[in-house]
Amino acid sequence: MEMSRRTLLAAAASAGALAATGAPSMAAAPLGGAQAPGFSRFKVGDFEVIAVHDGMAMRDIPPGFVRSVPDAEVAKAYEEIGVASGKMANTFTAIVVNTGKQVVLIDTGFADNGGPTTGRIASNLQAAGIAPKDVDVVLLSHFHGDHIMGLRSKDGALVYPNAEIRVPEAEWAFWMDDAKMGAAPEGLKGNFAAVRKAFGADAGKVARFAWGKEAVPGITAMQADGHTPGHTAYDIVSGSGRLIFVGDITNNPSVFARRPDWSPVFDMDPQQAIATRKRMLDMAAADNIQLSFYHAGFPATGFVAKSGDGYAFQQALWTGSI
Ligand SMILES: [Zn+2]
Repeated sequence: MEMSRRTLLAAAASAGALAATGAPSMAAAPLGGAQAPGFSRFKVGDFEVIAVHDGMAMRDIPPGFVRSVPDAEVAKAYEEIGVASGKMANTFTAIVVNTGKQVVLIDTGFADNGGPTTGRIASNLQAAGIAPKDVDVVLLSHFHGDHIMGLRSKDGALVYPNAEIRVPEAEWAFWMDDAKMGAAPEGLKGNFAAVRKAFGADAGKVARFAWGKEAVPGITAMQADGHTPGHTAYDIVSGSGRLIFVGDITNNPSVFARRPDWSPVFDMDPQQAIATRKRMLDMAAADNIQLSFYHAGFPATGFVAKSGDGYAFQQALWTGSI
């Protein structure tokens, strides 16, 4: 850093860029202005896992965001993790599991269907050396837009053209049921439409599996419903290595694992979501299992420990080698 700054200063000086007053010009230390590619590799047994960032959305905390909790208390919880007052930051991080035989993407982000600070999974994967055509399987945890819209770009093309799409049977049964769509409250109809758009003409080719079954060799689907009717976690096991992709059993765990009784409006069945949250966090804490959360801060993987009435989330140690 020091070297490059000196080099820049020398270059600026020789180019006559120092102002007559002797004060260095602003160009002496140009700002980077962009983030590094958002991917992070780690091993799970013999598998290689890549956390892949899709981006983030910052917005005002919607009134009544957490059922039965005053908005001011919710705002305070976000302030405690460094989010500006009254705002909620929602970050999106999928994972890729390379089993050595297959490249498996779990959840897809938005592609170009979301806001300007989202849709980066494909480019971040490319930066990690994986082209969209290299993805063999896409698994989905559930069918909320931030998890499925990245299957297809706005122009309708499949983002991962060679990938087989495999989904939890219970999630498929709920969202693909026309009667349920017809009976859905207005606020949910857009989600039903997004599901139909995401699968589109390829719906007939989507493979389904039950909880307790392997979704691909080495990755088993775990019942984790409540957030949605078929919300599914993935138990990834290789040798003595284990990682559970827990999707949205919490939104940001630094807020919601800490307070497992809080029920954000995203949880479709609040009581079941709370029961699932506690059951899985309790198991992970007891057995010290590494978890990947879709909405944790990047790289969104780490451990939980019992703390007070909830669970403290500790990011896994990032290292420069894997
Ligand atoms: Zn989500």
